[in-house]
Amino acid sequence: MLHSELIAKMPKVELHCHLDGSLSLACIKQLAKNDGQSLPATDAEILEKAQAPETTRNLLEYLQRFDFVLPLLQSYRNLEIAAYDVVQQAAKDNVKYIEIRFAPAQHLQKNLTLEEAVEAVIAGLARAEQDFDITANALICGLKHQPLSELEKLLPLFDTISDEKLVGFDLAGDEVNYPEIKFEKIISAAKNSNIHITLHAGECPHCEQNIIDAVELGATRIGHGVMSKDITAYWETLIEKNIVLEMAPTSNFQTKSITALADYPFKKFYDAGLHVTLNTDNRTVSNTNLQQEYTKIADWYDFQVSDFEKINHYAIDGAFIPEIEKIQLHNDFTADYAKLIEK
Ligand SMILES: [Zn+2]
Repeated sequence: MLHSELIAKMPKVELHCHLDGSLSLACIKQLAKNDGQSLPATDAEILEKAQAPETTRNLLEYLQRFDFVLPLLQSYRNLEIAAYDVVQQAAKDNVKYIEIRFAPAQHLQKNLTLEEAVEAVIAGLARAEQDFDITANALICGLKHQPLSELEKLLPLFDTISDEKLVGFDLAGDEVNYPEIKFEKIISAAKNSNIHITLHAGECPHCEQNIIDAVELGATRIGHGVMSKDITAYWETLIEKNIVLEMAPTSNFQTKSITALADYPFKKFYDAGLHVTLNTDNRTVSNTNLQQEYTKIADWYDFQVSDFEKINHYAIDGAFIPEIEKIQLHNDFTADYAKLIEK
C-alpha cells in the first residue's frame, strides 16, 4: 500500500469535476455572505445539505444534492469565486491540469446571460492559474432534461466566447429517461463544429448502450462508463479509438452504479488496456478529493506509482488541449514520476 505522502506528491490530471458539486465549505459560506443569504447554523448542518449520504439510493437522489448550492451561483462574482475555489482545491491534490464542467443554464436565475455565466467561470479559472501551478480549462454541460431548444443554445457559445479555456462539451444528468441517442442531433452538431465531446454514459445499471451510442456519435471520452463492464465485446473498439473513461470511485458507489467492490471494474478495465482515469466527479457532494480517490485505488488493487503514472498519461492523451501542450505534460509527468519511482 502506497504512503499517503507519495500519493500526494504524484502529479495528476483531472478530467471530470463538476463546479457546483465541488465547492469548499469556506467557499459556500463566502458566496452566501456575498449574496446576503442565510445558511444553516453549523458547518455540519451545511455539509449535511451539500453532501450525498453513503446510503443514496440512485443517481437521481445523488443529483438532488446540487439544489442546495445553486441559488448561491447566480452572479458573475460568485461564479468567478467558485471556479477559483475548485481549482485551488485541485492544486492541493497536486493536479497540474484540470477540466471543470458546469451547466451555464443553471446560473440564469437572476440576470446573468449564458455568455456571462461562462465568462465568469473562465475568469475564475484564469485567476487561479495566476496563483497556483496548474492549468484549468472549462467544459460546458448540457443537462439531459433540458428541452432540446435550450440545449441548442449552448453550442453557439463556443463561437461567441471563443476563449481557449473553453475546451469541450458534455451532456450530464438522468441517462435512464434520457438516453444518449435522443441527443443525436446536438452531439452531431458539436462534432461537425470540431468541439471536443465527453458524455456522461454508462453510469447506471443497464445503461451500457449509452456508451456505445456516445462513442458512435463522436465522444472521445465517457463520463464514468462503468457499465462498459457489460459490453466486453466492445472493449476492442474503445481501445482502438483511444476512448478515455473518466471514472470516479466514490461517486460510482454512491450513485449505485456498483454496490460491491468485486463488481467495480476499474482494475479489469486497466488490465485489459482500456484508458481509465481517476476523477472526483464532485468533491463536496461525494465528500472526497483526488488524494482519497487515488488512495482507494491503491488500497483496493495494490496499484503502484507506475500504474498511476500510466493512467495519468491516458488522461493527458484524452485532455481537450492542443497536441503541443499534451507533449509538454507527458514530458513533465514522465520526469516527475521517474523521480518518485527512484525513491
Ligand atoms: Zn459527472
